[in-house]
Amino acid sequence: MKIMEKAAAKINLTLDVLRKRDDGYHEVEMIMTMVDLADRIEMQELPRDTIIISSQAGYIPLDEKNLAFQAAKLIKDRYEVKHGVYIHLDKKIPVAAGLAGGSSDAAATLRGLNRLWRLGIGDQELRELGAELGSDVPFCVTGGTAVARGRGEKLEFIDSPPGCWVVLAKPPINVSTADVYGKLRADRIERHPDTAAVIEAIRQKDFQALCGGLGNVLEEVTLSLYPEVRQLKDCMVRLGADGVLMSGSGPTVFGICAKESKATRVYNGLRGFCKEVYAVRLLTKENN
Ligand code: ATP
Repeated sequence: MKIMEKAAAKINLTLDVLRKRDDGYHEVEMIMTMVDLADRIEMQELPRDTIIISSQAGYIPLDEKNLAFQAAKLIKDRYEVKHGVYIHLDKKIPVAAGLAGGSSDAAATLRGLNRLWRLGIGDQELRELGAELGSDVPFCVTGGTAVARGRGEKLEFIDSPPGCWVVLAKPPINVSTADVYGKLRADRIERHPDTAAVIEAIRQKDFQALCGGLGNVLEEVTLSLYPEVRQLKDCMVRLGADGVLMSGSGPTVFGICAKESKATRVYNGLRGFCKEVYAVRLLTKENN
């Protein structure tokens, strides 16, 4: 039997770091949501007790460093599954981009193998397994829109934002999340996003207020390290996107647009400037 799961990319509408904890992790507060840009994960049972990963993308690890491999190993070990699995990752989400591609692949693998092997694991337990793989994995188990706190694993699901278009552009640099967090001085952040105001804007489906409230404290670090990310942000603003922000630790910058015509203008304007550009819909409860 062969099954397929979609693994969507996430963006942060806000990303705030409250403090650095004694255990070395950062205490975060961030609003995450998903966009219609997704990897496709195919899973096929193998009679031999082994995990094999393949992908058309030449630049991701295919061994135990791959998050989908780690997800498969975790579920196999925990539920004592003796079958093997062949997993093919059709990558569409740019890698090391701040879009949680690896985390979403891991979450999709947990969902898929739960189905393939009829394990009957509930969403909450899948999220707990996901937390062992990475801070963004629990959110990616069901997606939706959530405020994530703690290391990112404590989730409060909220309404979907108003439906809109998202133009994503990734400059040709890879940014290490650990590096960016390492350079952040949590006690010296100049402007924190007003997370409560953005939650309220989403509740009221107030698109203007949502655009005005977008904020990410990691921009300070990434924009100072990579001037091309700042240029990309300025370019998206000039092209008229309604709200513009860097996602996660970057370097992907996204612009949200209420109207498709505006999203098309931003997309076309960016294409000469940047090779990896996508115009997609935000995934909401209505269109997911
Ligand atoms: P996040 O926003 O969660 O920090 P990201 O979008 O910045 O994630 P990923 O695309 O998840 O970054 O990739 C981060 C690193 O993880 C890459 O350097 C890549 O080699 C490795 N990796 C492991 N498994 C995967 C996978 N299935 N897909 C993409 N990258 C993977």
